[in-house]
Amino acid sequence: MLSEEIFERIREEARKHYKHQHHDFSHAERVCKLAVRIARELHEPVDLDVLRAAALLHDVARAYEDEGLVEDHAREGARIAREILRKVGFPEEKIEKVAYCIEVHRFREGAVPETLEAKILQDADRLDMLGAVGIARVFARAGWSNTPLYDPGIPPKPHYDGKSATAINHFYEKLLRIKDTIHTEPARRIAEERHSFMVQFLERFLKEWEGEL
Ligand code: FE
Repeated sequence: MLSEEIFERIREEARKHYKHQHHDFSHAERVCKLAVRIARELHEPVDLDVLRAAALLHDVARAYEDEGLVEDHAREGARIAREILRKVGFPEEKIEKVAYCIEVHRFREGAVPETLEAKILQDADRLDMLGAVGIARVFARAGWSNTPLYDPGIPPKPHYDGKSATAINHFYEKLLRIKDTIHTEPARRIAEERHSFMVQFLERFLKEWEGEL
């Protein structure tokens, strides 16, 4: 395993690229913790160097996509990640493995990851969209894009097209479907638990909205 010093340098470089609250650097840190936890609970050989580097770097280009500067944050993220990893002296033979994880992590493309590290990264990234943290992030993003909390007159769309008209619709269009897209068993258990918390939150939210609670 690589020294902690190299991961500190990756953090230092990565941090410069993360911006908006819903995808700030704390998201990358949480994904990294979840990824390591999933890897431990899996009891299969996982390259933790590749996994941790990929987790810390996976959304380096996210803010650029949100600001309309690049089209695909996964591809651009992989490019920036390669540069950072070379700069900090990450082992050359592992750089492409990290870049691959980042290239396929994206939700919208429906890309199917083939390596175990890429599957774990995608799972960890999706888990951070669920539960209490997931709820907080939805509203942070809604605030950022000036999207309403809820509007009973706008029903959720049957298929997610990358943008929800209200924060509450985002749960129905995207987040409540995530638990069925998880690859690994340990992540599935966490996803089920976080999913049921979100369902409770929504039930309560809709009752409070009507003044029933
Ligand atoms: Fe992410």
